[in-house]
Amino acid sequence: MDENAVVSDQTRQPDAPDDGHEGQPAVSAEMRHAKVRAATDHTTVGRVETTADGRVTIACACGMELTNGPTWSLDEHIRLHRAEARFLALAAVAPAGIPRLVGWPLTES
Ligand SMILES: [Zn+2]
Repeated sequence: MDENAVVSDQTRQPDAPDDGHEGQPAVSAEMRHAKVRAATDHTTVGRVETTADGRVTIACACGMELTNGPTWSLDEHIRLHRAEARFLALAAVAPAGIPRLVGWPLTES
């Protein structure tokens, strides 16, 4: 598998604690832990399998099967899945009042 396709921001330095304000860390422990938890909860498990109908799939640690489809690749699904997981984890613990791009809590559709 193409490693670059599934690694997101691993090359970034860890969130530096020195650009916060008034002695507060730049990123709260809750948000740091949420990001790490999202990454560990959504690692791919096992090997890429090819199904009888020709799709390629791989399991995620969360139990979801990641797969390609008629208009998307397996790597695209993996990338979106991890981004969604990271978003949900961070959004759940973000400070009250923080301006958001996406309304929170999410509404059921
Ligand atoms: Zn997952």
